[in-house]
Amino acid sequence: MSTDQYPCVFKVDLDKPAEHQPFHNRWHPEIPSVATIQCGSVYTLETIEWTGGQIGNTDDAKDVKTVDLSRIHYLSGPFEIEGAEVDDILVVELIDIQPLKRQPFCYTGVFAKENGGGFLSSFYPEAAKIVYDIDENNIATSRHLPHVKFDGLIHPGIVGVAPSAEQLKEINERELELKRTAKNTEDVSAIGPLVKGAHAGQAKGELFERIAREGLRTIPGRPENAGNCDVKNITAGSRTYLRVNVPGAKLSLGDAHFSMSDGESSFCGAGEMSSIITIRTSLIKNGVDRMKITNPIFLPGKLQKEYPLNRYLTFEGFSVDETGEQKYLCANTAFKQACIKAIEYLRKYGYNDYQIYMFLSSAPLEAHIASIVDVPNACCTLGIPMDIFDFDISPEAEPVKLDMGNCAFVTGADHEVTFDFDKLLKKTKLKNK
Ligand code: ZN
Repeated sequence: MSTDQYPCVFKVDLDKPAEHQPFHNRWHPEIPSVATIQCGSVYTLETIEWTGGQIGNTDDAKDVKTVDLSRIHYLSGPFEIEGAEVDDILVVELIDIQPLKRQPFCYTGVFAKENGGGFLSSFYPEAAKIVYDIDENNIATSRHLPHVKFDGLIHPGIVGVAPSAEQLKEINERELELKRTAKNTEDVSAIGPLVKGAHAGQAKGELFERIAREGLRTIPGRPENAGNCDVKNITAGSRTYLRVNVPGAKLSLGDAHFSMSDGESSFCGAGEMSSIITIRTSLIKNGVDRMKITNPIFLPGKLQKEYPLNRYLTFEGFSVDETGEQKYLCANTAFKQACIKAIEYLRKYGYNDYQIYMFLSSAPLEAHIASIVDVPNACCTLGIPMDIFDFDISPEAEPVKLDMGNCAFVTGADHEVTFDFDKLLKKTKLKNK
């Protein structure tokens, strides 16, 4: 569809550093609005890839290893929604979302364990990257992941509104409390405000300093203002319902994904790209009270390609971890096990573990909580559409090992590309005897 007939309320300049453009990368009620949007009218806006151009279309993952995570989630907005009042519900209708034609690629990364990490970084601590080329029909293929091809399931990772001043204070308090009391010091439990790397659009002087000091980081989605919820089904045709916390709502969008698996496990895990989004907004007056909508809700968009359900090879994971330790109804452990089992299965075709880890994160896979009550085991599933591969991965087909090339690592660095889960299990059992 042509988007030229609609007014564009946010343009991205790919040749100019993101920090010199009116993006913002913190949530705060006082970030100045960049434009006003009328309900019922259609607009386009452009978004930049989430690191603001720090990671590029190359065969070296050095950019992933050294990425500055204080400067991420450059968001387009905030947009003032005319007529939006506190406790209304803002409806964001996503009419269309397309890759920015001026930058027809997306990438998926594994952050180095010491700089960002990810869901499986205890097993895969090295920085790595897969770059996908996007063709004119929105089909992705990659020189870093041969024999794989899939359609875009294009969506914004971030759709959010400004929190109120009161919510801002509450959120900062509860997240910093978690950080203070976290038992596991190895994992980052919560990320408080950070002045370094803060960007607040056109805010200057004292206002900028206050926003940088108090502004919420954009990593987690939140009940009050949504944000980085990373829901892969907020595609074209979707409707997202957000509570309005400040007059004018102050809507922002960004972090577009060409595709993503449920879970986005590798953290830098979707097909990260720049985009052009077409939206229309409306309001449900006093919707918080009348409709009892307090958390974000949404109606999914239409999938651009649905694989038949019976073509999803589906891995089951349980809350018994990789060392054999029994956990109590832990969906996190169960999902991790489903991912590990998929890696072990796909390895036999010639892919290395990092290629599969990034595939499991960025391809349009379906994950579900199968059960959360059957004590002591939660069961999570991860389904891979078999038709994404140009060879047969079904359990009945004789496995054929192919030349799968390699993903991008840091050039010259030495690293293991396979993790021996069997060995870990045997070792732990022996130790526990
Ligand atoms: Zn993203």
